[in-house]
Amino acid sequence: MGNKHAEERNPSKPKTPTFLLELPLVADAGQAARLRAHLEVGRQFYNAVLSAGQQRLRRMRADPAWQAARAIPRTQKQERRAAFSALRERYGFSEYAFHELAKALRVSWLAEHLDAVLAQTLASRAYRALNQVCVGKARRVRFKSRGRGLSSIENKRTDTGMRFVLQPGAAGRPQGYLLWHDEKLRALIDWDDPVVVHGLAHPVKYARLVRRQASSPRAQGADREGERYVVQLVLTGVPHHKPRHTVGTDTIGLDLGPSSVAIVPQRAEARLEPLCAELRPDARAMRRLQRRMERQRRAANPEHYDEQGRPKKRGAGAPRWKQSRSYQASRRRKAARERKLAAHRKSLHGRLVHQIVRSGKTIIIEKISYRGWQKRYGRSVGLRAPGMLIDHLRRTVVSTGGILHEVPTRSTKLSQYCHGCGRVVKKPLSQRWHQCPCGIGPVQRDLYSAFLAAYLDPAADLIPSCARYVVPWEGAEARLRAAHERATQRAKEGQVMPRSMGIPRAGARLPQSRGEATQELLFLSKRGKVEAWKRRPEPPVLVPGESSVRTQKSARYQVLSAH
Ligand SMILES: [Zn+2]
Repeated sequence: MGNKHAEERNPSKPKTPTFLLELPLVADAGQAARLRAHLEVGRQFYNAVLSAGQQRLRRMRADPAWQAARAIPRTQKQERRAAFSALRERYGFSEYAFHELAKALRVSWLAEHLDAVLAQTLASRAYRALNQVCVGKARRVRFKSRGRGLSSIENKRTDTGMRFVLQPGAAGRPQGYLLWHDEKLRALIDWDDPVVVHGLAHPVKYARLVRRQASSPRAQGADREGERYVVQLVLTGVPHHKPRHTVGTDTIGLDLGPSSVAIVPQRAEARLEPLCAELRPDARAMRRLQRRMERQRRAANPEHYDEQGRPKKRGAGAPRWKQSRSYQASRRRKAARERKLAAHRKSLHGRLVHQIVRSGKTIIIEKISYRGWQKRYGRSVGLRAPGMLIDHLRRTVVSTGGILHEVPTRSTKLSQYCHGCGRVVKKPLSQRWHQCPCGIGPVQRDLYSAFLAAYLDPAADLIPSCARYVVPWEGAEARLRAAHERATQRAKEGQVMPRSMGIPRAGARLPQSRGEATQELLFLSKRGKVEAWKRRPEPPVLVPGESSVRTQKSARYQVLSAH
């Protein structure tokens, strides 16, 4: 036991590449009930560690020495670090101290459900959550509620406790099992799937048990409570590459907007695409579900509202919120809808990523603060998740041996730059075209930015220079125009394009004000028009600083109502 701790504290251990393989588990009713019991104990234990840790964090921050340490200027790195680590030492705020805490908390009946290593990984998880708060990356920690429970638990070794084993099975093919306590849960292995075969040929670092909500108890593989169990194997090595994905050699400039993307390779065809155009959340159905949940919550908790139906202020000792069965069912349905939407978005992202990587694996893009976007454009960004798209692209590019350069916007200012005269002129958001008195343009601004990005020189600090662009521009101008024409053509054929693309929308005569409009259009029942109205492009055209305040407010409201 002793030397294991020493090993953990030693951070110099080199990290090996890992990847995940997920296998569904078969659990009968008895096994599922026992797994639930173990996970419930895990949840209580996690909350206990989190609560004790939170107290430590509060005491540490209340210490005058904490303020003194914060006052040390960041330039005096060593001094600052020493002051903070002395505080952490004194208040027991470290991963190691949390492991000790876990040891003290894992007593009596808890120990029957939770072996020492799992308790330790839960303690590490609690520490990481609290540390995010400590270093200012999170506002608060989340205790796991009884209703939702703990959704995963993991080991960190393969010799004891929860682990995955392969045993000889029927037809000469090994059968996999997850062992935990006295349970032996069969994993469903598809030996014809190359991804699975590739994964199981690699050494397992540790196993993680994951519990997922299915849409209903009748869903495939779900148990009586509407839950599914899967095992995630953390494996040493690199993931399987599907051979059908070919990788090109071009260099590609990207310009990502909240609802569109411009793709300009150095050689191949340029493209202007709406982001996740097929993603159509049924906002009305979602809203209906939300309202129904609100009614169910009220019906089950009348003591939480005053005579006029306003929610009462919550103080210490307030009664618990009750959840009715029907409320839980609606919540499950809402969650299922959200999961489906997320899965659809992920597959759309994946398709776009592979389309990009097919022409090249050197990508240049301006570094954008997606968090800033979220504030400004709210729902649109939340729906299309451009940040996740870039993460996906980066992972794919790296795994094929390419590179994704993210250049700081502040130094490049690609959306303001003109390569003809070298001037930097700020364009208002409503201006969709780059046209300069020096004779460059008109060209759609996103495509132009992507073009500028494609020819940045990574060796020259990625700062744009006029001379670099003279030759490429001769060939690119026509390509960019063609890309915009193709997008316009698609819009004419009926595909809805974001307004930022600078395509005049045909057909739909948009009414003057929103209120009267929706009704009238609905009664008109001219399908095209209604659709066009419903799919009004996000984001709205904003003048920076003016109406963005309002969007921020509504974004905040959404965050609040999501809780
Ligand atoms: Zn110019």
